[in-house]
Amino acid sequence: MASLFEKKIQELKGVGEKRAKLFCKLGAPTVGALLRLYPRSYEDWSHPSPIASAPHDVPCPIKATVLHRPKETRIRNGMTLYKVAVTDGISDLTLTFFNNPYIQTLLMEGQEYLFYGKITGGFLRREMLVPEFCPASTAPAIAPVYRQTEGLSSRIISNAVKHAFELLPDPMKDPIPDEMRQQYGLCHLRFALENIHFPHTMEDLGVAKTRLIFEELLVLQLGLLRLKSRTRKDISIHPIEDHSEEFFSLLPFSPTNAQRKAVAEALEDMSGKLHSHSMSRLVQGDVGSGKTAVAAALCHSVIKNGMQATLMAPTEILAQQHANSLSEFLTPCGIQVALLTGSVKATKKRLLLEQLKQGKIQLLVGTHAIISDGVEFQNLALVVTDEQHRFGVAQRSALAAKGENPHMLVMSATPIPRTLALMIYGDLDVSVLDELPPGRQAIDTYAIRSPRRERAFGFLRKHIDQGYQCYIICPLIEEGQNDMASVQEYAEMLRTRFFPDVSIGILHGKMKPKEKEAVMKQFAQNELSILVSTTVVEVGVDVPNAVIMLIENAERYGLSQLHQLRGRVGRGSVKSSCILISDAQNEEAVARLKIMCQTSDGFRIADEDLRLRGPGDFFGTNQHGVPDLKIANMMEDMELLRQAQAVAKEILAQDSDLSLPIHRGLRAEVRQLFQKVGEQGLN
Ligand code: ADP
Ligand code: MG
Repeated sequence: MASLFEKKIQELKGVGEKRAKLFCKLGAPTVGALLRLYPRSYEDWSHPSPIASAPHDVPCPIKATVLHRPKETRIRNGMTLYKVAVTDGISDLTLTFFNNPYIQTLLMEGQEYLFYGKITGGFLRREMLVPEFCPASTAPAIAPVYRQTEGLSSRIISNAVKHAFELLPDPMKDPIPDEMRQQYGLCHLRFALENIHFPHTMEDLGVAKTRLIFEELLVLQLGLLRLKSRTRKDISIHPIEDHSEEFFSLLPFSPTNAQRKAVAEALEDMSGKLHSHSMSRLVQGDVGSGKTAVAAALCHSVIKNGMQATLMAPTEILAQQHANSLSEFLTPCGIQVALLTGSVKATKKRLLLEQLKQGKIQLLVGTHAIISDGVEFQNLALVVTDEQHRFGVAQRSALAAKGENPHMLVMSATPIPRTLALMIYGDLDVSVLDELPPGRQAIDTYAIRSPRRERAFGFLRKHIDQGYQCYIICPLIEEGQNDMASVQEYAEMLRTRFFPDVSIGILHGKMKPKEKEAVMKQFAQNELSILVSTTVVEVGVDVPNAVIMLIENAERYGLSQLHQLRGRVGRGSVKSSCILISDAQNEEAVARLKIMCQTSDGFRIADEDLRLRGPGDFFGTNQHGVPDLKIANMMEDMELLRQAQAVAKEILAQDSDLSLPIHRGLRAEVRQLFQKVGEQGLN
């Protein structure tokens, strides 16, 4: 099997350069990958109905004999129709094909075929448009349906898969060792592959699926656990004494119970009294739950113990904001906080790095610039990453490598579904901030269609006149337009048509960090009433006086992103609103917007998001350390997921780098699955 991943798809019969490109597009550049391109669904061809009683407008199988050679008719636009009459001995049916001259050689007069398609038309003249078909003698009981792409039909794919099976070695090796297969009642890989593509019965299909899902989850777990074992160095050399009461007493507000609990859990974890390893903890909390103060409390205690801490954020704006709020919290305690981003000037940076190395800077806040070479700490004991779903596992471990077994705190802004947390952070301890600071009001959310946009503007106007501020998220989609142009045009439209007397600012990804900062600062100081922006405002920046979030083309965003955007408002004590504008008709988009109107519970939203989009999209493809899965569904296959996780741990306990010959197949698969993932691949 492994070597089939080296065989190019062109080596298959019937696959030339042009088709090879299309196969690549579907994710099958090699014969091995093609065998792992599982059907999207199946058609049951096993019970053909008589033509007379076949259902209307529902795909169904018909067994019938061709009455005459397909007749060719040319119609407008260079289209050619092929019509052919077939009979099941009692009733007749007309089949129609378009632009396919091969039909005349594929359908022979007097031969019997199985046709699969929808019957339309009246009592007298029943028709089937472009059915799938196969000679009756060789027809499968269940036919696979593949994800198609222009120029590559399900049938072409199915034929290529048939040829691919001819290249499988016999007997073929199975990456899952025999003994393990027996123990968990899993079928052999060969059986699984044959039956996932061309199942003989629905039962066989089920058996094949279970085996392939298990295998995929096992390989995923092995890969993730191995990546994690690199992040987690076991023995803690930094016992931390609790100074949190001192920190809390200096806070301008009193911490929520959830914040107190999270801080206590983490400090206990770092105390060295419970166990000997360094802390690896995830703090999950909805937007606005006050994660920054939790991180600050921990940094404070670490620093009061004479050590250093660092916090890494995904964007400059966010790093800046963290630096601001952390120094507000910590400077009064005599702590030196510094900010390091890509835009810090060379001379200033040199000085900063020097002071960091000498331990004069005790808390370094920054972007991924922190993990670059030349950044050295004197005694780094705590690393914090914010908005973690934007960082790869590998980046997090690079940060940890700046210290010696430092404690690690991961702050997740988008709550991660519990199921997914179990898989990705299987070995992280979790604290949950399930309580918002007092005085927060629920955010009213409305989904409207664009004809009501002007009314929404009226609503904005009312609030602006009272001195409040609003965000508007663009862009509108227009062909050939970039985000910047869209934001500019939108702001212009507002200025000329609706808000000539209102100060409007714009923010987009093409602006320099300095420019963005300047605009954000103006907005934070209420010098701008409306901020028209791309999703760059998504993360973190806190403006309590902003009370309306209006999102154009809301269907373009995933649930978690919408929730995150909505979290920009409702940060003060005033009633806030979120207006989602969308003309989308498709069911999934409508469902998403409905969920947004129904709930503001970040955990529920995350669960729904995962359900609607799948884990690959949820994490924004593989760059975040989770590869796309082909067959397993993490919401539905929880039981297999748990099993796979347990088995993976068992395997790694005996053979931590999968070097035993018996694990060679699994090792190859881990590499295969993770090849696109992460900055440092597995080896
Ligand atoms: P998030 O969890 O989304 O990162 P932040 O840490 O940015 O939330 O906190 C949101 C806002 O709430 C900040 O302005 C912060 O100062 C404030 N805040 C945090 N904790 C409390 C609290 N216990 N009481 C009142 N305000 C708080
Ligand atoms: Mg935050």
